[in-house]
Parts: sequence; C-alpha cells; structure tokens
Amino acid sequence: MTQKIITRFAPSPTGLLHVGNIRTALFNYLFSLKNSGKFILRIDDTDSERSTEEFSDQILKDLDWLGLKIDEIFKQSERLEVYNRYFQKLIDNNFVYKCFETSEELDSKRKRLVARRMPPVYDRSSLYLSEEDIEQYLKEGRKPYWRFKLSGKRTNFNDLIRGDVSVDTSAQSDPVIVREDGGFLYNLPSVIDDIEMGITNIIRGEDHVTNSGIQIEMFKCLGKEPPVFGHHPLLVDENGDPFSKRNSAASIKGLMEENYEPMAINSLNSSIGTSLDINIFKSLNDIASDIDLSQVARAPARFSMSQLSKLNSDILSQLDIEAVSERLKSNNVIFDEKIWDVIKSNIKNIGEYEKWYEIINGSIKVDNSDQDFINLAESLLPPEPWGDSTWGDWITLVKGASDKKGKDLFLPIRKAITGLSDGPELKNIILLMGYDKMKKRLLGS
Ligand code: GLU
Repeated sequence: MTQKIITRFAPSPTGLLHVGNIRTALFNYLFSLKNSGKFILRIDDTDSERSTEEFSDQILKDLDWLGLKIDEIFKQSERLEVYNRYFQKLIDNNFVYKCFETSEELDSKRKRLVARRMPPVYDRSSLYLSEEDIEQYLKEGRKPYWRFKLSGKRTNFNDLIRGDVSVDTSAQSDPVIVREDGGFLYNLPSVIDDIEMGITNIIRGEDHVTNSGIQIEMFKCLGKEPPVFGHHPLLVDENGDPFSKRNSAASIKGLMEENYEPMAINSLNSSIGTSLDINIFKSLNDIASDIDLSQVARAPARFSMSQLSKLNSDILSQLDIEAVSERLKSNNVIFDEKIWDVIKSNIKNIGEYEKWYEIINGSIKVDNSDQDFINLAESLLPPEPWGDSTWGDWITLVKGASDKKGKDLFLPIRKAITGLSDGPELKNIILLMGYDKMKKRLLGS
C-alpha cells in the first residue's frame, strides 16, 4: 500500500502573510491535492512575544479566501507537553547538552572568530564542562539553555525541487533548542510535530535548506525517517526585492481588501517560476493536475503586481454571471447584468461595479473645465431611440461643429459623462444611461 501524502504549512503568526508565504502554502496544498493527500495547518506560535491571535485568525481567513482547504489545524503553543516529552528522550540519550554562556560571551566569541576570518561556529565549550563546573554555574544562579549536538558530518538528501543536496553540519553551530527560560526554539518542535503528524513531504523556502540538514539529524536521533524535502526559491517583487511581513501592500489581507480574485493570485503564484504558462486556472484542482514541482526553476520567481492586475481583469471578464450577481448582492449591491456586461472587460476588480452603477444611474460630481464645448455637445445629442450607431452619429456631429479631434474631442466628453479619464467604452455607457440622463449629466449633474 502506498503511503498517504501529508503536507503542512507552518507559518508563525507574527505578521500578515504575503504572496511569498502563500506560495509555500500553495505548493504544499497542491502537492497534497494532486496525491489525494492531507493538508495540515500548523501555527508556529512558540514565540509568545511576537505571535498574536489576530495574525493567527488572519492566516485562517487568508487560506479560506484563497480556497486552500485545511484538513487539520494545530497550534504549537498548545503542545508544549509533547515537546517536553521528546526533549527528555534527547536528554536521556545524550543528544543535547546544557550551556551557560551569556549572550555577551557568545557574541564576543563570534566576533573573535570573524576577526580571524573563521566561520562563527560555536566552539562547544559547554559540552566539555565537568560536573563541578556545571554545579558551580548553577550555584551562581546561571540558568542553562540547551543545544542539540550535531554529528559534524554531511547530511545528504534528495530534494523534490533541487535534486541532491548536501549540508555540512560541521559548518553549523550546534543549534540552541531550549532557551534559558525553558522556551523552545523553532527546530525541535518542528521536527516533533512533523513526526507526530506523519508529515511525508515538507515543501518550503530555500532559506530553510540548512535547517533541513539539522532537522534530518534530529529525526534520526529520535529514531524516525525524515520526510521528503522540497525547497523552492523565494519570491521577489518586480524590483527583485523580497516580500516582507511588514509590507502590507502585497499581503493577502491587502489584496483581499482590494477585491482581487483569489484565483488570479493562485494562478500567478503557481505559474511563475514553474513549468506552467502564466494563465488563468479555473480551480486549484486544475493547477494541481498540471503542476510538477520537480520543474520549479532555481532562480527567484518574480511576482509582478501588473501581471496580477492583468490576470485579475481577464478572470473578471470570464466570470460566471450567477457568481458575480451573488457576490455583489451579498454586499447589498443592486446587480444589473447589462452594466456588468459593459464594464467587465474594463475593470480591475469586482468592487468597481458599484462605482459604475453609480456613474450610470446616480448623480456624480463632474468637473467640466470646458463647459462651452460640453454645452455644444449636449445640444447635438441625437433624439431617442438610441442604438449601436448613436455614439458614432453624435460624435460626428460634435466633431463637425467644433474644431476638436482625437484626445481633445474624446477626453472632455468622457470626463463630462463619467467624471473619469478612462473606463469602459462610452458607446455602450451612453446606451445604459439614455437621453434624459445624458442631458442632465452634460449639464452638470
Ligand atoms: N515557522 C517556520 C517559518 O515560517 C516554518 C518553517 C517550516 O518548517 O516550514 O519559516
């Protein structure tokens, strides 16, 4: 029987998720979807000072909005007992050791090594302390913190994305796993949870490659086979800069508030830097069946907001009318299919419908800097009935009666009708407004 695939996404709730974080979630989700597996959300909130409930709740909202369905959810802060149990095993088997250096002492050791152009690797002095030394430190009131003893060998693994990877653990400091105050740092709880939850595949950013080397040793010390790892290049913006939890513009919450379509984000995020063409996918299932993680490129993938806007507009023009009507009605907006048809290929997001509803049916403030010209245009409005040729007929008359052409002709008219300098085709907009409304608008209301 083949093993059931289980993946997880393990964000720390210390900020808003951005498209780069979500790319990791997406890859894990798609991988489990493709393999009829399970997708777990693990909230890494052991850092109680920086983690907040608010960010945790937002993570759930973000995933739900993007359509990533979570099979199970865990919070690390609720699992300290489990971590302590495993930690005791490591103590019993001598895989960890107490340390007593203060951060100032560690810092000066590090600086000395750097000054001698040596890698700032911890010298393991605490490993060689005698029982008496330890007694003495404890008597002085120093509290121990704990490090995990690395093997000093190379850890080799076959990465789903990068192929053969080798991490030299002799170039790494023995990682601190438990702080002076008894709090756990990232590596050990992560390994314990991956064991307990039966994670088969860990897909995450390439900033974790070294951690994976270290974690593989921890799996082994705990008598477990490590999962399969896959490290993807980090996402960068148009300027090649990494996304940050502190920049809310590209946060999922921000994109949600700006009414972007979740499938535009998912489509772009899973096709840049992979073998997929940049295209709109209708569903995550469609992406899952096409994506192949072994084809993820090694160079950083660029997430461009202009590309996102383009995909978003493309999706809007293809949306199912029932879905649009339902979404707008649920926001207490009056839905008019004719208006949607006219604007759908010219708007950036669905939220713009309301604006156009108001422009077409309501009264808006327009700024007619050239009111004489607009008065002339108004006097030439053809009588009803109006049809497809009305716009062309009217513009021909206005052009003939004025000396304007091109932009000078069209822009003041567009502004006088809509209050804006761009938007959907006026030819269609005026038909939705009709003669009376157009007269009023051109006269300034
Ligand atoms: N909380 C870690 C992070 O956000 C999880 C990394 C992992 O194990 O996937 O980087």
